[in-house]
Amino acid sequence: MSSRFPPPLPPLNSAAILKSHGLRADKSLGQNFLQDPIALQRIVDVAQVLPTDTVLEIGPGLGALTRHLAAAAGRVVAVELDGRLIPALEESVAGFSNIHIIEGDILNIEIAHILHTEAYLVVANIPYYITSALLRHLLESTPRPRRMVLTVQKEVADRICAGPGDMSLLALSVQVYGQPQSIAKISAGAFHPAPNVDSAVVRIDLFREPLIPYDLLDAFFALAKSGFRQKRKKLRNSLSTGAGKTNKKEIERVLTEVGISPDRRAETLSLQEWQMLTARMNT
Ligand code: SAM
Repeated sequence: MSSRFPPPLPPLNSAAILKSHGLRADKSLGQNFLQDPIALQRIVDVAQVLPTDTVLEIGPGLGALTRHLAAAAGRVVAVELDGRLIPALEESVAGFSNIHIIEGDILNIEIAHILHTEAYLVVANIPYYITSALLRHLLESTPRPRRMVLTVQKEVADRICAGPGDMSLLALSVQVYGQPQSIAKISAGAFHPAPNVDSAVVRIDLFREPLIPYDLLDAFFALAKSGFRQKRKKLRNSLSTGAGKTNKKEIERVLTEVGISPDRRAETLSLQEWQMLTARMNT
């Protein structure tokens, strides 16, 4: 009897694959291989991958997530830095004809050079040591993805999704470009070797355009950076030493004009308040 659903993929045994290729996981490259089939399928489900989608995967490793993505997507482009893993990766994905493997450092690759479509998703269990740089690289790339579903350190997922009261430069830099949600926790035991931090899947649905107009983005980030550089200080102090404005009275006046108390601290401001402040300071 035929079924609408393809048979589940048999799980990969990362330890056995590494051993048979004479390899060891390289911690300095963030190599914790996700091998729990339920967690892998959950990531693909959260990403809502369609057969027409192109998916960019960063760090396919031994191919566990790559296979699940290839079973759901039209095409998977997978960028792996560690050339030692490529033969094992090619073996794991040998049954799929819709996977294109690129050896390289994602941070040195222009997305437009490897993807020939405007509409793509990023789905990846990323190396945690490049989380901030990678988010920035992807969010500022052209073309930008439609959606990103990333496994990151749980604490980082919480920071990305934070609201006023707990805002950070990281939260602002993601929330300018899209709506993040922390979807599910993944326990350390789902990985080989087990990391010593908890992990979480974060989904970011990107806006068509950033919430701050392009011509104000640099000014917005410069202002926010100066606020967060001295985040324990009140805005009247942090902004007057940071944003190129040395005149505290002027800063207090502008803050008051847009309805923000100069006694507040950077982490309490919403994105909309940073937006108003940027616009007011650049008119
Ligand atoms: N996707 C696999 C999985 O789920 O089991 C492996 C995930 S592991 C956390 C991260 C992977 O990213 C490793 O294979 C590592 O070699 C690779 N990696 C590390 N830095 C990278 C970079 N700058 N560019 C591309 N891949 C990188």
